[in-house]
Amino acid sequence: MQYKQLGKTGYKVSAMGIGGIPIQRVGEQVAKEVIAVAVEMGVNFLDTARGYTDSEEKFGQALQGVRDRFVLASKTPSRDAAGARRDLETSLRMLKIDSIDLYQLHNVSKEAELEQVLGPGGALEALLKAQQEGLVKHIGVTSHNDKILLKAVETGLFATVQAPVNAVERQFIPVFQAAKELGMGTIAMKPLAGGSFKHPQLAIRQLLAEPLLDVVIPGVDSAEQMRTNAELAASWRPLDDAERPLLEQEVAELGKGFCRRCEYCLPCPQGIRIPQVFIFEGYATRYNLADWAVDRYAAMEVDASACAECGVCESRCPYNLPIRQMLKRAHKNLKH
Ligand code: SF4
Ligand code: SF4
Repeated sequence: MQYKQLGKTGYKVSAMGIGGIPIQRVGEQVAKEVIAVAVEMGVNFLDTARGYTDSEEKFGQALQGVRDRFVLASKTPSRDAAGARRDLETSLRMLKIDSIDLYQLHNVSKEAELEQVLGPGGALEALLKAQQEGLVKHIGVTSHNDKILLKAVETGLFATVQAPVNAVERQFIPVFQAAKELGMGTIAMKPLAGGSFKHPQLAIRQLLAEPLLDVVIPGVDSAEQMRTNAELAASWRPLDDAERPLLEQEVAELGKGFCRRCEYCLPCPQGIRIPQVFIFEGYATRYNLADWAVDRYAAMEVDASACAECGVCESRCPYNLPIRQMLKRAHKNLKH
């Protein structure tokens, strides 16, 4: 396993980490299996969040007896001090720990949010106090907006920065550069752009080659996936002349306007499982699995035609996707 210094935190983290979103979909036993493989393979960075429903709780159980083998990171979505304190206490309880290695302000993506978290009575105030009390070792920030994240980095108040980066999303590279210059740790989320790549291993290997990135955290929902990811980092080699064009071709095909499955757009008041619709569309149009995808789409309780065009989802999508229009297209592609 390759290890890197996580900025100035003093932690030596495996180049491959664990993203905590997908564990929500599976049982506690899977979390245990994932952690067992991680320990076996030397993966030692785990990132979860208060906002990932029972992810902290499942990992909290799975980490019993091996907590010291990991650098644990979680996040608060709260913008004010009282909320952040409450979240931190819940995170510690769910993870069954007395102090957390890294606690991050989650998805600070708007100017007003940044002002609030940094201002008097803001979330950062609570985390700094918790740091003095020994409940939090280091404080980080995450975002889906490169301009806001750059401002956060430039305050010099954070130990780490976390943002999406992958073969199609390169806009955060200058932010990571600025963070590195300040000695911050850099965490790459969404390395697979929400599972959009036909050649995921190439996409991950490309990121493992980026000196700007300390740890890459693909979401994991099975022991096999954990093993595959860990092996990629353990036996890492750069893309060769035959592999590079394959990834470049995918990047060209994907463009920018595709769903990353982050689920921030949910819940839809009509009950449409928006990312699921786009997953089925992708299977139908990009993976030659049209029959399977059409059947699965037909089995959805609420399909895209139920969209009432309220626009709530679009106001929440960090990628500013024209979801309403995309749902119409998906429905057309999937309804036979
Ligand atoms: S615009 Fe359509 S899909 Fe989006 S939240 Fe409203 S009803 Fe749901
Ligand atoms: S539509 Fe936007 S918010 Fe919803 S899952 Fe896709 S990328 Fe995320």
